[in-house]
Amino acid sequence: MDKHLQELITREEKRQENTLTLIPSENYASRAVREAVGSVLSNKYSEGYPGRRYYQGNDLVDEVERLAIERAKKLFNVPHANVQPYSGSPANSAVLFALCEPGDTIMGMELASGGHLTHGQPKITFSGKYFRSVQFGVEGDGTIDYKKVQALAKAEKPRVIIIGTTAYPLALDWKLFGEIADSVGAYLVADIAHVVGLIIGNVYPSPFPYAHIVTTTTHKTLRGPRGAMIMVTEKGLGKYGKLGEDIDRAVFPGLQGGPHNNTTAGIAQALFEADTPEFKKYAKQVVANAKVLAQALQEGSSLARRPLARLKLIGGGTESHLMLVDLRPNGLSGNVVAEALEKARIVCNKNSIPGDTSPFYPSGIRLGTPAVTTRGMGETEMTKIAEWIIKAVGEVENEKLPEDKDGKQAFLKEFKVRIKGNKVLQEIAGKVKDLCQKFPVP
Ligand SMILES: *Cc1c(COP(=O)(O)O)cnc(C)c1O
Repeated sequence: MDKHLQELITREEKRQENTLTLIPSENYASRAVREAVGSVLSNKYSEGYPGRRYYQGNDLVDEVERLAIERAKKLFNVPHANVQPYSGSPANSAVLFALCEPGDTIMGMELASGGHLTHGQPKITFSGKYFRSVQFGVEGDGTIDYKKVQALAKAEKPRVIIIGTTAYPLALDWKLFGEIADSVGAYLVADIAHVVGLIIGNVYPSPFPYAHIVTTTTHKTLRGPRGAMIMVTEKGLGKYGKLGEDIDRAVFPGLQGGPHNNTTAGIAQALFEADTPEFKKYAKQVVANAKVLAQALQEGSSLARRPLARLKLIGGGTESHLMLVDLRPNGLSGNVVAEALEKARIVCNKNSIPGDTSPFYPSGIRLGTPAVTTRGMGETEMTKIAEWIIKAVGEVENEKLPEDKDGKQAFLKEFKVRIKGNKVLQEIAGKVKDLCQKFPVP
């Protein structure tokens, strides 16, 4: 292998081993999943579906794809599954193209409130440009006002309501979303990219009885390869018998060419792993860990410098795998805190919170527990991590971003260099490294 490339990959492997991944969309796939993804299946072209391919030589690929489809159908108890979408965004694109004509109305939750770009974000995404997009947000306290959602649906009569979250810590009321969609004759598409693993573990509400279509990525809490699935529910087939065929045609030839068979094999392996008691145990621990982390952050730490001793969470805590820290009471931006935490080997992301206007300079950070739970960490470790986070935030409590845009950029550049020498952050980094060594990545 090219030495330079080999070195970069090895260094990334070390980075993953020696840091705490608190980015809620990230995880560690098993060696078996990674071997499937790196296998010779990637050499094969297989446009079409099992038994209906445009190329010869696909008998074994057909078996691999059938395995993935059957496992998805069994695990989620659905009549139809498509495992070919290249990733979550293409899966949502295919669904919207299957259900809508250009210019039709779609409805979703705005990005700044924890929705996804593909749920109709105006101007910059296909979903906001090719369709007439109407969106709702969360209230000031971070919760959804379902009455407002109902009123918007009634006024706008969307053809599709697409719901799923990337930064909403609380449980969604899928039954209500189903009733709202039914009341206006809309399709309800549930995008469970973040929470699919929690739904398998019965620790997060399931949309399957209420949605017509469910999309999910396979690389987040599911711990599979980067990929996605689209599932049609009993209710979806009941609304219109050919929904499964429409979805398949929208994926191929509507949007994609040849499926990534290596990824399909990785999905089959991930679904095999997910259909075990160990997986359910992991899912339960993910939520238990998130609750402990959230509580410890809110209670604060005796280690922290005054006046900052506790952190404020949007929605008052979590009912899932993630939480959003509101840094406005600390006068801090997500950029500064995320950068400081990275110096302490704690890797998270800056994130918009309700009311933010700039996604590049948001006032929050997002934290999640799937990856650290996969490493085997539990409540004791979460309490320690919370103390380190609070201590790190305390170290930067006077680091306010300037008002103007150029000033912000210059400040962050200088800040990044300057905090390399921060003794407290270095000390935390050392402790994080010790902890990481006790909990090896798979
Ligand atoms: C991650 C995510 C996606 C997009 O998945 P990609 O694989 O990054 O394209 C879509 N919807 C939701 C809710 C997500 O969290």
